[in-house]
Amino acid sequence: MSEHPVIGEFGLIDWIRRRNSAAGATLGIGDDCAMVDFEGAPALVTVDMLMDGRHFRLAEDGPEAVGAKAMGVNLSDVAAMAGVPRFAVVAVALPRDSAVDVAKGLHEGIRRMTDRFGVQLIGGDTNAWDGPLVVTVTLLGAATSRGVAKRSDARVGDAIFVTGPLGGSLFRGRHLRPEPRVAEALALSAATDLHAMIDLSDGLSSDLGHILEESGGLGAALDAEAVPIHDDAIDHSRADGVPALDHALNDGEDFELCFTVPADAADALAARPPDGVWLRRIGAIVAEPGLRLRGADGRTWAIEGRGFDHMKGPSPR
Ligand code: ADP
Ligand code: MG
Repeated sequence: MSEHPVIGEFGLIDWIRRRNSAAGATLGIGDDCAMVDFEGAPALVTVDMLMDGRHFRLAEDGPEAVGAKAMGVNLSDVAAMAGVPRFAVVAVALPRDSAVDVAKGLHEGIRRMTDRFGVQLIGGDTNAWDGPLVVTVTLLGAATSRGVAKRSDARVGDAIFVTGPLGGSLFRGRHLRPEPRVAEALALSAATDLHAMIDLSDGLSSDLGHILEESGGLGAALDAEAVPIHDDAIDHSRADGVPALDHALNDGEDFELCFTVPADAADALAARPPDGVWLRRIGAIVAEPGLRLRGADGRTWAIEGRGFDHMKGPSPR
């Protein structure tokens, strides 16, 4: 699709959403997964498409890495709901001249992730054409008895956390190796009163923005010193001169979780995170809409959602 300067990716999704009530679904368009009540049991559904030249470069990255990433980004969306990933279907458009080799390599990468996360591959669709590789994974998951963590459940006063250092995922190819926080999300949902949650695929400023919008137009006050900056963001900053904090706020594809919990649960969670879960408290949800940063000197400034928008940004790879 050509770039559209006016409505962008999220404007377009809103346009579609306004035309579809999703009646009958527990959760329709607007979250990391949809949820339907399937004959008495809640089922989570998510789909993500990866395209050569947009999300990866097949010639440089190889098909195994592509397969692992395609499964990883979907696992991350199930993690973002605090769900349990269960079944996958995979559709591929293979480049005709290397179709079998690419398909086998892809499958190795996909299986590496399904084996690790206890997912069964149950179907798909195989096509070959003269165009570039396109991979689409649809993942089905289950909700636990604790329910799911939606983007829309943030409340004023909630503390905001992230599960890892952010930024620079493109710099050394970390975007190809997502570590879906499935176990971490389940541990958090068992340990605390999870309110809103999202996975960081487009960048903290945009993805936290989705939580704020979906929760009724709230705001967030972030402590600039607390935002954890990945070493890759620091190195990227040295190379391109963009402040490392900007990389941490706006780069995509960290695939960490950003979530909110009530203020009275936050101290206990920060002091004793569940085993194996890395956490950093970065700020609080406020009533005044928008995203604000507070520096060590007490100065505050507004920031915009500058994360990735498929219909606005240049091709990142
Ligand atoms: P994520 O980054 O978590 O995969 P997206 O930003 O891609 O989420 O999508 C946001 C929401 O919009 C999701 O609920 C997704 O299912 C929905 N969505 C995206 N594209 C479409 C589309 N073409 N038709 C219907 N819903 C869509
Ligand atoms: Mg997501």
